[in-house]
Amino acid sequence: MRDTSRTHEHWLFGGTFDPIHRGHTALAQSAREKFQLNRVYFVTNNIPPHKQLKQSLFAHRYAMVALATAAEKAFLPSLLEAPEELSEAGSKKSAAKTLTPSYSIDTIRRLKAQLKPADEIFFLIGVDAFKDIAKWHKAEELFSECKFVVASRPGFSLADVANSLPEKLRPAPAVTKPFEKQQAIGDLVLPKATVHLLDNVHHAISATAIRDAVKAGRPIAKWVDAGVADYIKKTGLYKGAD
Ligand code: ATP
Repeated sequence: MRDTSRTHEHWLFGGTFDPIHRGHTALAQSAREKFQLNRVYFVTNNIPPHKQLKQSLFAHRYAMVALATAAEKAFLPSLLEAPEELSEAGSKKSAAKTLTPSYSIDTIRRLKAQLKPADEIFFLIGVDAFKDIAKWHKAEELFSECKFVVASRPGFSLADVANSLPEKLRPAPAVTKPFEKQQAIGDLVLPKATVHLLDNVHHAISATAIRDAVKAGRPIAKWVDAGVADYIKKTGLYKGAD
């Protein structure tokens, strides 16, 4: 996985990040340590198609990602899915279309177009999000474009991970049955999909709980970076959230 002499690895960690929290940074930190990464790109999603929630503006979510990643050299905020007016392409007045909604397959292909053919893309994702991966746009093709690194947590088995794969890539039930009692750790290397598992990096935090806490006037300091907490306070984000 880490023969960096000829190829380059590009690690992407996408999310709504509304707001980014310590669960997100802990996941990326764990991947950074396990795979000795010197760069992880935090890609703020622009309206993820599988989420129907009302979101904060891209600019607010991106700003919080920039604040939360500032102290870690290996973490970079990415504008890969930025709306056109905020993207580098947009600022150069290119003919690029506004990227709404942003599908991961398009993001990855756009990135690949700028890379060398031997370069590899790794997609970091939590197991809760991975459970729905089969519903993502062009899900099967995603697995041929990149390798997945899934952060698992207690309660998820290897069978849960294998059964989440798009139907055509999924092993037969007779194959996954023995995985039911196996904790989701290790690697799942199938003919058309590679999934590496990062175990036990889940923190009991969600952005939803943070938004609810802000609305109710409860403290959020233990869940988010200090800069993010200040940003939320200064801008009044989530105060009137539904
Ligand atoms: P929301 O509560 O609004 O649904 P969220 O907290 O789940 O948000 P997202 O931005 O949707 O955050 O998640 C981005 C990625 O981070 C996903 O791959 C998700 O599985 C993962 N993730 C989210 N929360 C945690 C957590 N507490 N620990 C580890 N991974 C997480």
